[in-house]
Amino acid sequence: MSEREDENIIRSIQYLKKMGYRITPQRIAVMKALSKSKNHPSAEEIYKEVIEKFPKISIATIYNVLTVLKKENLIKTIRINDETNRYDYDLSVHAHFLCKECSRVYDVDIEEKIISDIIKGNILLKNSIIDGTEVIIKGICPKCKNKKDNNS
Ligand SMILES: [Zn+2]
Ligand SMILES: [Zn+2]
Repeated sequence: MSEREDENIIRSIQYLKKMGYRITPQRIAVMKALSKSKNHPSAEEIYKEVIEKFPKISIATIYNVLTVLKKENLIKTIRINDETNRYDYDLSVHAHFLCKECSRVYDVDIEEKIISDIIKGNILLKNSIIDGTEVIIKGICPKCKNKKDNNS
């Protein structure tokens, strides 16, 4: 486990305890699975990982933990399409690149200033309350692009 993953989980546990949530090994396992994954997993993917250690866990429990983490602003959700939410433990400002071939979601660095410049430069946004931003770039990742090139 890297330091960053560790930090995320410790921060979550401390905060949830303070808010009166019960911290179960199952809940911690969900946090670990999410923190470990670099690929912005869906609830299904987290479920597949956690069930290896907790064979009796249900998908409802996974959703339950994710809902709590989201409600307490400890994770971000990324809505890729209508069916699937992806979850992200990284709360720092960054954009996402979605590959439409393999459905991977990559992190893309973006300066916070760029986003605040967009908001500042737009009359509508400037006079609104902004409570979140999401930048998603879509296309075909290098891995899938290479595959395509080699096949043609
Ligand atoms: Zn791809
Ligand atoms: Zn991300």
